[in-house]
Amino acid sequence: MNTTTESLHVVCPHCHTTNRVAADDLRQAPDCGKCHRPLFGGHPVELGEAAFDKHVGRSQLPVLVDFWAPWCGPCRTMAPQFEAAARELEPGVRLAKVNTEEAQALATRLNIRSIPTLALFVNGREVARQPGAMGAADIVRWTRSHLG
Ligand code: ZN
Repeated sequence: MNTTTESLHVVCPHCHTTNRVAADDLRQAPDCGKCHRPLFGGHPVELGEAAFDKHVGRSQLPVLVDFWAPWCGPCRTMAPQFEAAARELEPGVRLAKVNTEEAQALATRLNIRSIPTLALFVNGREVARQPGAMGAADIVRWTRSHLG
């Protein structure tokens, strides 16, 4: 075992199990140790409140969350842009979507005042928030600007 290799906790987007992944292996398309599905599929993961807490609380990757609702036109416009941003930002960042219609308690707890709203979480703490729809390039730029 190479003790100099840093490993990270990565939460599976399918079964929400926490995996330990060597940082060097992040780009080698790692699979989940439990469900054996890819830990990174180039798609945002849909999260309810319990799964949100697992991802944001346990992931050692930054988690970028799109708070949206089905009735919100600008949210639907932004959805393919957010998809494109996932392909760009993975595996360094986990992208997730929270339907605020279904996860109302979560949206209230986080004080989400308008949608769409993007929020970036690092080690369980929110480090940035941006209301309003953005294009893929702006989502990527905004995220990287807050990760240093
Ligand atoms: Zn899994």
